Amino acid sequence: MNTSNSEPCLVCGASAKNGLTYQLRDRRMGLAGEWRLATCGACGVISMDPMPSDVQLGDYYSGYAGDVPLDFSLKAGSRWPWLRKLFHHLSGDVDPRDFIKATTGLRVLDYGCGNVGYLADFHARGVDIAGAELSARVVDECQQNGFDVRQVKSFSEIPFSDAEFDIVYLMQVFEHLRDPNLFMEELSRILKPKGLLYLAVPNTDSVWRGVFGRHWVSGWFTPFHLFHYSAPSLARLAGRHGFALINSWSNTPESWFRLNLEARLFPSDNLLDRRSSRLAATPIRIVLMCVLRLAELFIRNRDCLVIKLQKQ
Ligand SMILES: [Zn+2]
Repeated sequence: MNTSNSEPCLVCGASAKNGLTYQLRDRRMGLAGEWRLATCGACGVISMDPMPSDVQLGDYYSGYAGDVPLDFSLKAGSRWPWLRKLFHHLSGDVDPRDFIKATTGLRVLDYGCGNVGYLADFHARGVDIAGAELSARVVDECQQNGFDVRQVKSFSEIPFSDAEFDIVYLMQVFEHLRDPNLFMEELSRILKPKGLLYLAVPNTDSVWRGVFGRHWVSGWFTPFHLFHYSAPSLARLAGRHGFALINSWSNTPESWFRLNLEARLFPSDNLLDRRSSRLAATPIRIVLMCVLRLAELFIRNRDCLVIKLQKQ
């Protein structure tokens, strides 16, 4: 426990964080340094303390984005969505195509569309979908292929108009943003009244957090994940910006569980994302999936939280 020298909470404004702290290294990309996470006793959100500056974050991310070419082709799962959904029941993967009911006539935003797998699929189904992405290369390539993807130049402003969207989703993005209150206001601005917002983030209430401790989801993905939420803390934050909680659920993807296990089994390895997984052999993965699904019949709070909110 440490209550000294802590910064005010950027989520609820409490003057200091007074809960559990963690001193962590970067386990996944091998950045040199140590970072501290601290828990806010008022709202329960766990955040980097001190919060990195924009310049520091720019440095961290400079070696992060790879040059993986984008693939706009549709995979088997797009032809047989029921098969994809069935597989995800086993793998635990959280995939917006499985639970977002986007139909033609609805305007949808994939904020942080990354390698465009979800975006291309919704687009092929006739959904009026747009994307937002940091990487100029991704934005250029998407635009050249006829996709409405715009570049994120500032996290203070989402590059779309007021009340433009029926649905907005952010998959594993919100925890990377350094001003969650300002960003919630922006999300509210671009959504139509009664518009839906889906956020997927790591879940601090997960049972696996207690099992893996500092190794959880590979060292809390320090220093890239700036905030760590639970369903209640995220719903409270969203509620202050005019969103009502519709529902929330959580799943543990087998790939996340492997990250947990690898970080625990190889505590001195700080390049877990830079090398191939040592546990990626198909028989190992199948066993892990089966063990996870059986265990999680009895576990309600799992690693990846999805929260569905509605703008009031
Ligand atoms: Zn707080």
